[in-house]
Amino acid sequence: MKIGTPKEVAEGENRVAMTPDSALQLQKLGHECAIEAGAGLAAGFSDADYKEAGVEVIKSASALWKASDIVAKVRVPTDTEVKRLTKGKTLISFFNPGGNEKQMKAAADKGATVVAMEMVPRISRAQKMDALSSMANIAGYRAVIEAGNNFGRFFTGQVTAAGKVPPAKVLVVGAGVAGLAAIGTSTSLGAITYAFDVRPEVAEQIESMGAEFVFLDFEDTQQDGAETGGYAAPSSPEFQAKQLEKFREMAPDIDIVITTALIPNRDAPILWTKDMVEMMKPGSVIVDLAAERGGNCELTQKDEKIVTDNGVTIVGYTDFPSRMASQSSTLYSTNIRHMMTDLTPEKDGKVVHDMEDDVIRGATVTHAGEITFPPPPPKIQ
Ligand code: NAD
Repeated sequence: MKIGTPKEVAEGENRVAMTPDSALQLQKLGHECAIEAGAGLAAGFSDADYKEAGVEVIKSASALWKASDIVAKVRVPTDTEVKRLTKGKTLISFFNPGGNEKQMKAAADKGATVVAMEMVPRISRAQKMDALSSMANIAGYRAVIEAGNNFGRFFTGQVTAAGKVPPAKVLVVGAGVAGLAAIGTSTSLGAITYAFDVRPEVAEQIESMGAEFVFLDFEDTQQDGAETGGYAAPSSPEFQAKQLEKFREMAPDIDIVITTALIPNRDAPILWTKDMVEMMKPGSVIVDLAAERGGNCELTQKDEKIVTDNGVTIVGYTDFPSRMASQSSTLYSTNIRHMMTDLTPEKDGKVVHDMEDDVIRGATVTHAGEITFPPPPPKIQ
């Protein structure tokens, strides 16, 4: 089969779904590879690099789509791109199937297969294809770098001839994939790092990374009588109030807040309120990774960087992976390559779309003329 990657058309998108290295691996599966001219440039890969890796460079997007049996890209396709799908073609991309009924129907009606990368189930076997995690990891790292870039002081404490410098104090809210990456980056830069999550099971992981888990002194007697260790379910209003009270207490002392709290299929919870921002010292920085879903900070403006009247910088960018396009493209293209490995069991260039396979089934949102979204829950955990 021929796997082709077009240049991303979304404004400001620097990533590319195939790198010269991933193309070499795809060819080992028996596939041919093609790329639209200039598609890798913003991520640091030239057409010559691709040619050297045995990739055909095709001049226009339309010719690339026409020539490819499988199109691998990053962003949700445009309507023009969906129109280029024809019967039997496969698209592997982020697709936002939950909010993209129109394109899903159009692809199904054409008899095209769509593999939505955000639908890869979060089970151990699929970790190598989990593009949401690889992008969140980058976003967590970059959030700390962005914070540092907007913060006028060192992260680490220093004793210098010119005086003693106190270490920065960083709070990471939400310790999932992005949060843990932020914690690791912050501690490695020498900041005193605190982290909070509604899932108490992450406390050990947070502490093993050299950060301090923010413990809420709270008993939730409504929790099934189970030993809660002082934590409550995220939905309890009493717990939420206690959480905000704790953050309010910390706000005057914290220099940098990185928020990553997310509850699947919901708007981001507001956890850092206007009055907390007002309590922070001038020069403090908030990086809100949840900006795409409304933000965890009440004052976040999506895709903007603002400075409040009291001198607090709030960053609401939603494109951190694209800001590290070389790294993101390397990891994303590896996720795609692993997906292709599972789709090519005999490594003979022939795709077997096994809908009995949990991972392939989970990620496939249209196939054989049908919409196959949402998938049944995976059998293997
Ligand atoms: P994740 O599901 O792995 O982690 C989210 C964490 O938030 C979980 O550990 C969850 O327990 C925790 N959480 C939920 N409610 C909470 C609350 N009230 N208080 C504290 N913690 C709470 O998600 P992820 O993959 O790490 O992604 C995190 C966020 O980063 C998402 O909003 C995602 O969209 C965003 N993201 C942003 C960019 C960007 O460029 N801005 C890029 C990638 C991901």
